[in-house]
Amino acid sequence: MSKKVHVFNAGPCLLPQVAIDNAIAALKDFAGTGISVLSISHRTKEWDAVMDECRALWKELLHIPDTHEVVFLGGGASLQFLYVAMNYLEKKAAYLDTGVWAHKALVEAQGIGNAYAIACSKDKNYSYIPKGFEIPADLDYLHITTNNTIYGTEIKEDMDCPCPLIADMSSDIMSRPVDVSKYALIYGGAQKNVGPAGVIFAIIRKDALGKVTRYIPTMLNYQTHIDKLSMFNTPPVFNIFVMNETLKWIKSVGGVEAIQKVNQKKAQLLYDEIDRNSMFVGTAAKEDRSLMNVCFVMAPGKEDLQDEFMAFAKEKGMVGIKGHRSVGGFRASLYNACTVEDVQALVDCMKEFETLKK
Ligand SMILES: *Cc1c(COP(=O)(O)O)cnc(C)c1O
Repeated sequence: MSKKVHVFNAGPCLLPQVAIDNAIAALKDFAGTGISVLSISHRTKEWDAVMDECRALWKELLHIPDTHEVVFLGGGASLQFLYVAMNYLEKKAAYLDTGVWAHKALVEAQGIGNAYAIACSKDKNYSYIPKGFEIPADLDYLHITTNNTIYGTEIKEDMDCPCPLIADMSSDIMSRPVDVSKYALIYGGAQKNVGPAGVIFAIIRKDALGKVTRYIPTMLNYQTHIDKLSMFNTPPVFNIFVMNETLKWIKSVGGVEAIQKVNQKKAQLLYDEIDRNSMFVGTAAKEDRSLMNVCFVMAPGKEDLQDEFMAFAKEKGMVGIKGHRSVGGFRASLYNACTVEDVQALVDCMKEFETLKK
């Protein structure tokens, strides 16, 4: 038997076991075709059925209105930074600069046109979400990053915005219900919460397209992929297959509404321990704490114990809790497939360490 481990990787994320088991089965024989999913033609009715189911599950789970369409593409969320500017930036766009990813999205847009940071939390190492900034109504769009994977901050509510609102939801998509009607575009990489690396999702309000005068290269044009139902060219077949299996699992456990409750419970469990335990302190502003990525460091005066705790936790089966180099310390990512038991194991490990060192 393999060792019991608790996976808190920031991405690629833990996936539900049933999705992995079904992927293994499909690698051998896809949908009773006798052909591996790796070799199936994407122009078959069996494959069409997967695409249709996957699109339908996205729409069902997030209650996506008919005004929007969802597409699946390659290139990672980082390429979406360019898609956004190409498809929507005409005169001026604003970006909420809440971390490394948000900043990269801004820089990419600045290569295309006039884009600026409307507010920025770099002054405190991105440990909070700026508030109270004015949003001009005449912007082409405002771009936000709802969950800042590296810093553990999150915009947990769908904000009102006088201009089109665009959100990178790479690391909190499907973790809670979202009012899709408030967004012109929601996009992200699948590998943080809904599938393996190698496929992105984009939920696009159809009437927000077609407003720029530039030539948009065919592959970078969202309209191409809406028109061709994500099959303009060969889609990332296997990645979409696993994403579909992951969405089926989300539905089977009660959908995003049920998942949100579990996510709240998991985050509360860990944040409560961080706040109670004399060995550790959280790094993100309390009101902005992410339910997905929980960042903490050794308490003042305990810094020397960092390596020791890391080794202790590793021994207890904790995987992937090293913090990103720009924050240091620890980061536990509590994506959908991570269980309350996994979080409890980490909490127990922190308690034990405190007892040992007191
Ligand atoms: C990981 C991440 C990205 C980058 O995703 P890639 O698919 O690796 O390009 C972008 N935005 C956020 C919020 C992320 O967490």
